[in-house]
Amino acid sequence: MEEPLFPEWTVAVGLMIGAAIGSFLNVVIYRMPLGKSLSNPPHSFCPACEHRLGVPDLVPLFSWLFLRGRCRHCKGRIPARYFFVEVVTGGIWAAFWWQYLIAGWDPARAVALMLFSACLIAATYIDLRWFIIPDEINALMLGIGAAYNVVLYAQARPEATTWGIPSSLAGALFGVGALWAVTFLGRLLFRKDAMGHGDIKMARGIGAVLFPMAAGMSFAVAVALGAVLGAVQILVRRRPAPEAEQEEADGNLTEDVEPESLGSILRCGLGYVLCIDVIGLALPKLYERWFGEEAYAVESIEEEDVEVEATVIPFGPYLALGAIVVALFEGPLGRLASSYWQWATGERP
Ligand SMILES: [Zn+2]
Repeated sequence: MEEPLFPEWTVAVGLMIGAAIGSFLNVVIYRMPLGKSLSNPPHSFCPACEHRLGVPDLVPLFSWLFLRGRCRHCKGRIPARYFFVEVVTGGIWAAFWWQYLIAGWDPARAVALMLFSACLIAATYIDLRWFIIPDEINALMLGIGAAYNVVLYAQARPEATTWGIPSSLAGALFGVGALWAVTFLGRLLFRKDAMGHGDIKMARGIGAVLFPMAAGMSFAVAVALGAVLGAVQILVRRRPAPEAEQEEADGNLTEDVEPESLGSILRCGLGYVLCIDVIGLALPKLYERWFGEEAYAVESIEEEDVEVEATVIPFGPYLALGAIVVALFEGPLGRLASSYWQWATGERP
């Protein structure tokens, strides 16, 4: 707080940098699940006409608006997602910029939360489309949390340590533990796959950046959002198309998948605690040996081959949304929780 703060107008700089990052996230969202390199080819192409895009096509926010969502060359539609990702990333970066560089001064936290939110946005869109969360993104969140924790130690800040261990480690263990427990109990009690493994690894990354308390709040927000939006989804889908009804009656959609074995859940959980999936990014052999399958690569999968599993509502987007909400509103939400705690335990003023 004692340092000179950025002037208020610089929030526009935060917005534009965020929008530019959002533009890069669109590349990540498109290329990463297909196993394509993020840097090769270095230029962007129109997915419809494959025309190489130049500067006028690639100005964040403005290009899409001025070209009215169409390719400059072939007039093909550019999905609104491209614009939306830029707007959302820009807005979130502007908010963190304001909170930690203008209204207060905490550059390390600003950078950590900005990069963290970028990971969550990319993971959300990839999960919605492909029902996976790339290991690279989950590993990156873990790295962001660890680096932020190192800076906190360097600044001798009390929040660097939780439960006698580094806060990012405490948060990561809490995140893995919470979602792994849901998976394990769901399998044990309901004989169903309750959670995707990507969600467990994502919760580990969320815990590493937000630390245990805020991560716990973000999981609670995720469950609440999931309940509300999931109910809306069910209501909207109340009358399925006739053929879908028929398939459901045949049991094709729900009965086919054998739930994962308890042994596999235990072994994978231990693997995530030990970060075998992270180390496995550099040592694919280790990954294969531990998890019994290759690290995710879609080179072999064509876009049309991916079928939507009707029974699985991906929880990843809710987790990500919960984490972003708590990161943005941590101050007020934390005060609300602690004042409730004081009231509930009888410490009334
Ligand atoms: Zn085109």
